[in-house]
Amino acid sequence: MAPAGKTLLVTEHFCFRGDATWSASDKALTEGTVADLVRLGLIQRHEVIGSVVVRIPRAYPLFELGYREHHDRISEYLGRFGNLDLIGRAGKFKYYNMDHAIESGLAVAARLVDRLSDVRQAAGKRLAATGTDA
Ligand SMILES: Cc1cc2nc3c(=O)[nH]c(=O)nc-3n(C[C@H](O)[C@H](O)[C@H](O)COP(=O)(O)OP(=O)(O)OC[C@H]3O[C@@H](n4cnc5c(N)ncnc54)[C@H](O)[C@@H]3O)c2cc1C
Repeated sequence: MAPAGKTLLVTEHFCFRGDATWSASDKALTEGTVADLVRLGLIQRHEVIGSVVVRIPRAYPLFELGYREHHDRISEYLGRFGNLDLIGRAGKFKYYNMDHAIESGLAVAARLVDRLSDVRQAAGKRLAATGTDA
């Protein structure tokens, strides 16, 4: 968490494990990043009060040739379950950005609400017809 009155700035360096960027020291990566941000006019050097470098292997999904065949097979199987909804990046295995991920969550939430209202209506009719909700 950032100290009160300060903020966090996250930058990403795209690289592969073991390449020059991955192997650079934390100090070199930080200095290069700060220099770039200063040059772009986004920050002033004295505003940087701390930094941390995190190296995350396999941060991005890589789509291999032929993945679609596996994807279709799994989707076809999971599609048989009427009460299973897949959402999000991993659930859909799609290269979503945040807005797509949120959209897919909202779409499923809307479907669930519709289903719930169908169930409630059916229960209401049953209750009216039989005087019991059994
Ligand atoms: C390095 C990187 C940079 C990105 N930069 C951007 C960007 O600049 N702009 C942008 O719009 N998008 C960006 N994205 C994409 C964005 O982060 C994703 O689209 C979004 O986070 C997907 O949301 P999600 O809810 O589908 O999945 P996630 O955010 O991945 O959430 C899935 C959650 O499910 C949890 N989970 C997984 N398996 C299980 C299990 N078995 N049981 C319980 N929990 C489980 C995980 O721990 C995780 O918390 C970036 C993604 C990455 C990886």
